[in-house]
Amino acid sequence: MPDAKTEVRYLKGVGEARAKAMAKLGIYTLRDLVLFFPRAYEDRTIFRAIPDLQLGEAACVRAMAASQPTLSYVHKGLTLVRLKVTDGRGTMAVTFFNMPYIKNALVPGETYVFFGKNTGNLINPAMTNPVFEREGERRVTGKLVPIYPMTAGLSQKAVSAAVRSALDACLDGLEDPLPEEVRKEHRLAQSRYAYETIHFPTNAGELELARHRMIFEELFLFSCALTRLRGQKEKSISVPVEPGELQPFYDALPFSLTGAQKRAIREAAGDLASASPMARLVQGDVGSGKTAVAAALCYLVWRSGKQSAFMAPTEILAEQHARTLSGLLEPMGLRVGLFTGSMTAKQKREAAAKLAAGEIDLAVGTHALLSEGVDFRDLALVVTDEQHRFGVQQRAALAEKGRSPNVLVMSATPIPRTLALILYGDLDVSVIDELPPGRQKVDTFSVDETMRPRIYRFIEKLVGEGRQVFIVCPKVENEDGSEDLKAVEEYAETLQKDVFPNLRVAFVHGKMKPKEKAEVMEAFAAGERDILVSTTVIEVGVDIPNAALMVVENADRFGLSQLHQLRGRVGRGKHKSYCVLFQGAGGDAAKERLAALCATNDGFKIAEEDLRLRGPGDFFGSRQSGLPEMRVASFATDVGLLQEARDAALAVLKQDPTLQKPEHASLRERVDEMLRRSDTTLN
Ligand code: ADP
Ligand code: MG
Repeated sequence: MPDAKTEVRYLKGVGEARAKAMAKLGIYTLRDLVLFFPRAYEDRTIFRAIPDLQLGEAACVRAMAASQPTLSYVHKGLTLVRLKVTDGRGTMAVTFFNMPYIKNALVPGETYVFFGKNTGNLINPAMTNPVFEREGERRVTGKLVPIYPMTAGLSQKAVSAAVRSALDACLDGLEDPLPEEVRKEHRLAQSRYAYETIHFPTNAGELELARHRMIFEELFLFSCALTRLRGQKEKSISVPVEPGELQPFYDALPFSLTGAQKRAIREAAGDLASASPMARLVQGDVGSGKTAVAAALCYLVWRSGKQSAFMAPTEILAEQHARTLSGLLEPMGLRVGLFTGSMTAKQKREAAAKLAAGEIDLAVGTHALLSEGVDFRDLALVVTDEQHRFGVQQRAALAEKGRSPNVLVMSATPIPRTLALILYGDLDVSVIDELPPGRQKVDTFSVDETMRPRIYRFIEKLVGEGRQVFIVCPKVENEDGSEDLKAVEEYAETLQKDVFPNLRVAFVHGKMKPKEKAEVMEAFAAGERDILVSTTVIEVGVDIPNAALMVVENADRFGLSQLHQLRGRVGRGKHKSYCVLFQGAGGDAAKERLAALCATNDGFKIAEEDLRLRGPGDFFGSRQSGLPEMRVASFATDVGLLQEARDAALAVLKQDPTLQKPEHASLRERVDEMLRRSDTTLN
């Protein structure tokens, strides 16, 4: 007998090929299939009499085949099956393209339900390639039909059938992760009912009940997972960092800090000096100067004779931070070391030895800082930059390298404050709500193709004045879902050869070797290249003050917050800066979105607009937010339920902190699974 743990390839109708395609969607077992929720539903519940069919509206029609279907061959192997159907109130022409077998599937005098759009007109309604079945079957009509996320090699029908078999095979054996009393208290549907209904709802009301229950469950599991992570953290011992004198640091800075920066530093320094470990989120729009805040704290830690770690999501950023921080701090005597994955084994060993001996005061790096064999002599502070690219567990792993894991998280993702407090309930939040003085607004233009020649001339003019230019291309996906990076390379080549033969064009993308990437970025930072064509690898944090123009190709393919991040790559120096967004083929909706970006430079407003226009799915997708991917819940719209689920989770964990009780076994299993999942999807 198959059960929840059975692999999908043993399912009837799922062979090796489909099993492979499913694996791409993260589906390996029957249980994964049951948990693979539709992304939407097609409403096939509306029934109409033939004369009432509206133009273009999809509806079901209950009608009798009124003629023998005729099969005709048009040109080039195209076949047509045609028949008339009637419902007593009107008749309708039905046509099927290239489905010759339908000729025998429809029997005159029998009644069927057809679902499709009226492709004729109001006088002579018609349907082309409708879905149909015999009256009373209710398999594909008269209900809400699930639409699943897709990948190559699968069809809706195949997935839906596989889900059906999986439900039949293992629904009875699936344990409900929600404790009975929680379910009762919050009036939630049983999990079996919810699974069945979320896949195969009969009507909107039932679906809502099922979804509500699933959203609650997901947020409940999420809250349990977060709380368990925190539990680990609280076990650690905190060694306070003595408060120190910051004036020498301030004096050494090439600029004076903004009030908001100083406030953030003061707040964090207070945490450092206290007996419990710091856990602070510094939120500030792009360009607000978060790095200087972190540097101040690293300085304090060094003054008290301890070490800091500064972790960045990419090698490019790690190297940039190492350059900036050593430029700033080394003259004062602080020793900065770099740790990246592309260092040779020997380099790594040497750096690690220095770190262990306390000969490095500030270790800057990527995930390499987490690796085995990287040990600190006395780690007091962990800074993570752009936390939305880091897994919660990665943060925790780094913190564990120190006895006193003071953690400072910096993020430019503007999560509304109330939400931040719930999500990061353990973090204190400092907001840098002020930009350094003299910062100019980046003038932003949304343009169509007719403007391209003018934009190219503008690029030449700016470079002539000594400025540099970014050109960002969206990810291009091949049919198999892999990323097509030729687009960037080829475009750079074309620009170099045909458009800017006299300028120096370089390119960089995520699949280049870290060393190649670093070389390109260094050359660009040093002003040895004029134009940098890239994918979004430069999206976060790259700081090239001489860059004055950001051009985004196919801007319609990016989220607004992402475009805002990209725009934040320019206007970082004293030069008047611009951002040009090529609209691409996005249509009016895209134009409206881009107009919003031209109108404001305020990251929070843009995030809200993004949320409003695109819905929460994209905005709080795991890629941007660093949160585990939710199947049904949304951190943006289900805030109320999140609060409720969190309270329930805390209550359960209070009586059973490690979920050891037998009745919490399936809950524990699901929480562990969520923690594992979040760790792999979060970067
Ligand atoms: P972000 O918050 O986006 O990480 P950075 O820390 O990279 O911003 O700072 C952006 C730029 O602004 C850097 O070039 C930095 O040197 C500069 N900067 C930071 N603080 C100030 C300030 N108070 N006055 C002037 N320039 C500043
Ligand atoms: Mg930054």
